[in-house]
Amino acid sequence: MRVNENILISSLTTMRLGGPARYVIEVESPRDVADAYGFARTFNLPVFVLGYGANTIGHDEGFNGIIMINRMRGITEEPTANGVQLKIMGGEYWDNVVEYSTNKGLTGIEALSKIPGLAGAAPVQNIGAYGQEIADTLVSIEVYDTASGTFRTLTHDELGFSYRHSILNTTEYGRYFVISITIKLQPGQMQRPFYNSIETYIDENGLTDFSPASMRAIVSAIRADKLPDPTEKASAGSFFKNIYISEAEAEIAGDKGYPVHRGNDGIKISSAWLIEQCKLKGKLLHGFRVNEKAPLVLINESATSYQDLDKARAEIINKVYDKFGYWLEQEPVEIG
Ligand SMILES: Cc1cc2nc3c(=O)[nH]c(=O)nc-3n(C[C@H](O)[C@H](O)[C@H](O)COP(=O)(O)OP(=O)(O)OC[C@H]3O[C@@H](n4cnc5c(N)ncnc54)[C@H](O)[C@@H]3O)c2cc1C
Repeated sequence: MRVNENILISSLTTMRLGGPARYVIEVESPRDVADAYGFARTFNLPVFVLGYGANTIGHDEGFNGIIMINRMRGITEEPTANGVQLKIMGGEYWDNVVEYSTNKGLTGIEALSKIPGLAGAAPVQNIGAYGQEIADTLVSIEVYDTASGTFRTLTHDELGFSYRHSILNTTEYGRYFVISITIKLQPGQMQRPFYNSIETYIDENGLTDFSPASMRAIVSAIRADKLPDPTEKASAGSFFKNIYISEAEAEIAGDKGYPVHRGNDGIKISSAWLIEQCKLKGKLLHGFRVNEKAPLVLINESATSYQDLDKARAEIINKVYDKFGYWLEQEPVEIG
């Protein structure tokens, strides 16, 4: 295990905000995880588990506790009746996992290409994109349970997955440290109809190969065109969630002419559309740019303080509420 002191949270998160964390402990084995929690208990310090920091925002005052990061890496394969199970250590970079599986012609996570983050964080908010979610392939996860001080396996059904949710970021938030995840993939390819933007890209480029590697290339190209690369531009990806509504609300919204999307995951109004209608697309608010091509994304161009984010966020939320009566909900979590 590696223990560091007084590390700026801004250097550990892709939005690049946040003051010093008292301790940052990088754990390299399950034993380290138990020891690090033991250290936290002994000195009565709060723990925040961090991955790549792509969905996490730091506060200016920092964190008077321990930030714990999973540095266990490695992928192991086990054949199944119709495919393969991959056990992935939580410190593995997620996109390496997608590349590994698509190189082997395995389908199941190719549409999740280029989502920044570590594998251990993937089930926390049930990462999803272009019609796939980690919940679709996830079999189980190995965790350290801070409530009992034991190592456990949680199965897919115990994780309570829904859109951007699992028990790990709701009812059991902070209880489990994810050590590894196991997913089930199979040879084959995604079936049509694909997500709209994929269909458009395929038509425009006259593509006919939808193998996992090809789909990975397609998704990567679409994402590169509209989403900021976190190594070049500071952001936390989609800053706001889409708004899920009931059938009754959908009828009212439809009568008002708002675009309503019905999918397997429910009925939603696109928050990007709401923001766009408020003429906020491309606007610079307190150092944050509302991304031109994907308005759910706020790019930190010049802000150095959480206060700036607070003001920019309030401006967007209030404008959308005043015009449409919907409250936008933030996607990234905050430390402290
Ligand atoms: C440019 C950009 C594009 C993005 N696109 C998408 C997208 O298409 N789809 C999507 O779903 N998300 C997207 N995101 C959000 C982000 O990539 C995902 O949420 C990703 O899973 C975050 O991984 P991370 O390692 O950075 O997690 P972090 O931000 O470090 O942590 C996120 C949460 O997981 C918890 N956590 C992390 N590791 C563990 C662990 N080992 N055990 C227990 N809890 C843990 C943290 O406590 C925190 O609550 C995007 C982000 C960016 C910056």
